[in-house]
This record gives sequence, structure tokens and C-alpha cells, in this order.
Amino acid sequence: MAEETIFSKIIRREIPADVVYQDELVTAFRDISPKAPTHVLIVPNVLIPTANDVTEAHEHALGRMFTAAAKIARDEGIDENGYRLIVNCNKHGGQEVYHIHMHLLGGEPLGPMLS
Ligand code: 5GP
Repeated sequence: MAEETIFSKIIRREIPADVVYQDELVTAFRDISPKAPTHVLIVPNVLIPTANDVTEAHEHALGRMFTAAAKIARDEGIDENGYRLIVNCNKHGGQEVYHIHMHLLGGEPLGPMLS
């Protein structure tokens, strides 16, 4: 059984966060340390620690993460210029919080992904 992270508390609204979207499958909230004018984290409501733990049972929630990202991008007015979606996995991927999440970054030119 994976250990809960701070993101589970945010999903349950037990600790404050700037939640921009929530439904029965996913929750999206602004990153506490934004790396771009728009920096939103989109997480499944169920705890999936990393991309390595994804199974077919998660496909509905993971698909909803993309649907939510597209809606949030429209709401933020960054859809036309574009944005970046990132999922980090484990140490070499730079993952810090072990509850899988998608970063939605935009609002300015982001430059090349790897430099
Ligand atoms: P990772 O490196 O795991 O892909 O990204 C984790 C992200 O979660 C980081 O960008 C970090 O700023 C953000 N983060 C960590 N703790 C909190 C928190 O308590 N609240 C919010 N809103 N974001 C957090």
C-alpha cells in the first residue's frame, strides 16, 4: 500500500490549495512554487505513486487528466499560444511528490524542453 502524500490532503480539501478544477476523477490546483505564469498540477483522486504504477484500471482517470488540462488551458487563455504538459517519474525524472501528477505550464514562451 503506497503512502499518501500532501496531494491526498489537497484532494480531500484538508489543507489549503488554489484548486482550479475538481471532479470525481481528478483534481487540479496551482503549484505552490510556479515555474511559469500558469503552473497547474493535475492529479488523479486515487493514489498512483508513479508512472510505473499505472495499470489499465487507471486509464479513465489518466484520460480525464488530459481533458481537464485542455479545459484549464482554455480557462487560463493559454490554449492558442500553447503550453507544456509534463509527468516526472522517479529520481532521474525529477519527481518530488510520489502521487502521479501532470504539470500544466504556460503563459510565456517556455523554450526548449531539454537544455
Ligand atoms: P514533481 O517534481 O514531483 O514533478 O513536482 C512536484 C510539484 O509539487 C513541485 O512543482 C512543487 O512545487 C509542488 N508542490 C509540492 N508541495 C506542494 C504543496 O503543498 N502545494 C502545492 N500547491 N504544490 C506543491
